[in-house]
Amino acid sequence: MDVVTLHSPNPDVLLNPTIEVSFPLSQQTLQFISEMQALLLKLKGVGLAAPQVGSPQNIFVYSISAEQNRLRKDANRVVPMTVLVNASYSPTIDAKLVYDWEACFSVTDHTGKVPRYSKIRYQAATPEGTPIIGIAEGFEARVLQHEIDHLQGILIIHRLTKDCLQGHPDDMLLLRYQEFDPAQKLIAKELLIERIKNTAADQHTELAMLNKALKILTDPVTRKT
Ligand SMILES: [Zn+2]
Repeated sequence: MDVVTLHSPNPDVLLNPTIEVSFPLSQQTLQFISEMQALLLKLKGVGLAAPQVGSPQNIFVYSISAEQNRLRKDANRVVPMTVLVNASYSPTIDAKLVYDWEACFSVTDHTGKVPRYSKIRYQAATPEGTPIIGIAEGFEARVLQHEIDHLQGILIIHRLTKDCLQGHPDDMLLLRYQEFDPAQKLIAKELLIERIKNTAADQHTELAMLNKALKILTDPVTRKT
């Protein structure tokens, strides 16, 4: 299972709405979901949607660790590995628009502060087909909006408007790390080192990007020239 990016030979799956999934899920779909969960853990990310691994099914997985929460001002809850099927969201009446850093495994050359609703109501089903209605706030709401957007063929490049701080991930990473306190810098560094450890030696582009990010984090001053 590999991540599809906008530079992959067939990126269309990222840019089209997914198909609704019917229950009960097939053995093949359950196997697919467990592979997605394993990949998300390996990538040390917070969310992964089916189109990002080349499938047009309305499924995503997400998980927010205590470490990932410490990198966010508006994170309020540790989320264990969760699978949602046929998900949709809408902002609550009291939601505000908040701009914050986001990155996407499928968009490797552009990132920025993406506007998202501070609070959403979402609907989905569990893999068993049980309907869920939930309210999410802060960083969890951001993650859900990012992933549910993937299910509609919407990427961060479509959400970043002219007024957003945005650019190449190298430059944005430098800006983002400057906003971190020393404890957050340490966590970010550890997460990167974990990701490098879990990346296969033949993933040259991915490894080069991660090592570059680590260099920026370790020695931001050298980036000034
Ligand atoms: Zn994404």
